[in-house]
Amino acid sequence: MSYWRSDERKLIPMKIKRAVYDRAKGKCEKCGIQLSIKEGDFHHTRDPTVTPRATSIRFLCPTCHRKYGHRRVTREDNWGSKEVKIVRRKVVKTPRQKKKDLLKKLTVPKLKILSKKHDVKVKGKVERGLLRDYRKAPTKQQYVNALSRRVTIEEIESLLKDTTNSAR
Ligand SMILES: [Zn+2]
Repeated sequence: MSYWRSDERKLIPMKIKRAVYDRAKGKCEKCGIQLSIKEGDFHHTRDPTVTPRATSIRFLCPTCHRKYGHRRVTREDNWGSKEVKIVRRKVVKTPRQKKKDLLKKLTVPKLKILSKKHDVKVKGKVERGLLRDYRKAPTKQQYVNALSRRVTIEEIESLLKDTTNSAR
């Protein structure tokens, strides 16, 4: 396996590249410069390890793409054929993403307590039942999403440290 494919980034299928290129009408979706499909870059607007869809990809010129901290690297492999890879300078996490990562480490009962404290209402999805519809219990992800808007990083960190007085 090639060194360039060692990470978990999903390659963007040609079909999706075509769809994105058509949507962009062959222009950089930021500055509007006209480009061939090979000249432009396909920018992931979401986590690049997730299977890409046309809606999560933007067609950009290399200059605009660099503004996102991504740049194009071309290397030759052992057989002399060129491989192109987009590399990230660094991954910058938003404060909300940081909070989500921390919240995921908490148990659901703790997330419930936190929701009560902040008066955050988390509702489970409605499922169609045989006799009547019923509401499922909220998932951990739903708690994490809702709480990440309200709580501070400091608060989550203190909860993570606090393993002793849960029986208070
Ligand atoms: Zn551009």
